[in-house]
Amino acid sequence: VVGFDLDMTLVDSAAGIVATLAATCAEQGVALDPDVVWRWNGVPLEETLTAIAPAVDPVATANRYRALYPEFGVGPTTLLPGAAEALEAVHDLGGRVLVVSTKIESAVRAVLAHVGLDAGRRGPDLVVGGLFAAAKGVRLAAEQADVYVGDHPGDVEAARVAGAASVAVATGPHAAADLAAAGADVVLADLTTFPAWLADFAARRASPESDIRDAGAAKPGCPSR
Ligand SMILES: [Mg+2]
Repeated sequence: VVGFDLDMTLVDSAAGIVATLAATCAEQGVALDPDVVWRWNGVPLEETLTAIAPAVDPVATANRYRALYPEFGVGPTTLLPGAAEALEAVHDLGGRVLVVSTKIESAVRAVLAHVGLDAGRRGPDLVVGGLFAAAKGVRLAAEQADVYVGDHPGDVEAARVAGAASVAVATGPHAAADLAAAGADVVLADLTTFPAWLADFAARRASPESDIRDAGAAKPGCPSR
């Protein structure tokens, strides 16, 4: 069972998020710096708005953002390299694919459909929205996730809470070194190398000589959890 984050892990949603936030805040006469918005990618919207636009009501503005997202946010969103193949690789091994995102579920589904990750071997078996960091981990644990893949230190925390291997991808606003420092079991430049990593992970887990129970134990020098 492999869970994936959505934004900046499977898709490049940065332009759509900036466009939607800009449109939402412009209605209230507030201008935003796209570079600042980028650094907050992956964090819950209300928390982001409190930090980057303190003049607006975060709850009302987040609701307005979600209403505008289908119009402004979905269209500019593109598939990241290796994302489709990563989902196919899980299915090819007989696994389940979960997409667990901070976005609301309707927005997750709209984005997945827009980039073609909504059917067949590329379609997730479960889509869950509205969760961040440890809350993602609780849901991943309920689904018995073996692996969680994400671009944010909160995704590393989610994997840890779930007792899953943490695969980090450096395709978002967080550098590889920061993701490693956050405790990721492995940091990939992007998802193009994920199928090879997954095949190795599955082979090590299946090996009768192996006493590997999770990725933490698999990593020399890394204490088992
Ligand atoms: Mg993300």
